[in-house]
Amino acid sequence: MQARFHAIWSEITPKLQEALLPYIGNDDFSAMLTTEQIESIKQISGFDDHALALALLPLAAACSIAPISHFYVGAIARGESGNLYFGANMEFTGVPLQQTVHAEQSAITHAWLRGEKKLISITVNYSPCGHCRQFMNELNSGTQLEVYLPDRPRLTLADYLPEAFGPRDLTDTPLLLDTVNHGYQLATNDSLVQAALDATNSSHAPYSQSHSGIALQDAQGKIYTGRYAENAAFNPSLPPLQSALIFMNMVNGNCQSIKRAVLVEGANSQLSQWNATKSTLSVLGCTELERHTF
Ligand SMILES: [Zn+2]
Repeated sequence: MQARFHAIWSEITPKLQEALLPYIGNDDFSAMLTTEQIESIKQISGFDDHALALALLPLAAACSIAPISHFYVGAIARGESGNLYFGANMEFTGVPLQQTVHAEQSAITHAWLRGEKKLISITVNYSPCGHCRQFMNELNSGTQLEVYLPDRPRLTLADYLPEAFGPRDLTDTPLLLDTVNHGYQLATNDSLVQAALDATNSSHAPYSQSHSGIALQDAQGKIYTGRYAENAAFNPSLPPLQSALIFMNMVNGNCQSIKRAVLVEGANSQLSQWNATKSTLSVLGCTELERHTF
């Protein structure tokens, strides 16, 4: 079992421990559960879907990296496929707080990067902050997304975000998690550049059209990609680097072992991720960073 789960494991009931052990007991557990795995867990533990998502929250929160707040937030996103995706907050010392990742953003981005096309619900251990309510309103699930908290009734995003402003108030644009391919091309034989380009082509930037993606390579040669997720209210937008760091953290990668990073964006885009990406990567100890433009 990964070290991050050791402290919390004793707080899980024995029946649920038995049900979860075949998955969470593995060192290569990737912070998600498939529908088949969930069925088996429900059968052994006797938990229903709702109780299981709530019971997984302490394990999701154990993935949190919060050196500033020491406030550990976990989230579980349920996709329309039936799969469950963990998410946790991430904070970075040495850069502005704007670089912070919230647990809901983490779970949603995790699901998106794994190819989930729509989310049904999100379960969180604390009430979602205003920033996350706005971030969630960018999803193609809209305000019908179900939001669950411990000891609260089932509510939807519409309850948490009344009089909502969102993408539907603007132009007729793709929504977050809609399948897109922007079709940008770069002549390259470099697998890291190609991975960053692929991420760019799946990114969400309907307001600025400044699509971007990133690919990170760690000391073991593993590649992690991230896509820009723009928001109708602009500020809750999630940069491509944060997206990649979310995935890296979820699969238990070490965000301080990035050896090389490639950012892809448009040469003439209105926005650039370059300077912010450079500053956050440098505090994470990565100095080999390239910008490739289309
Ligand atoms: Zn939040």
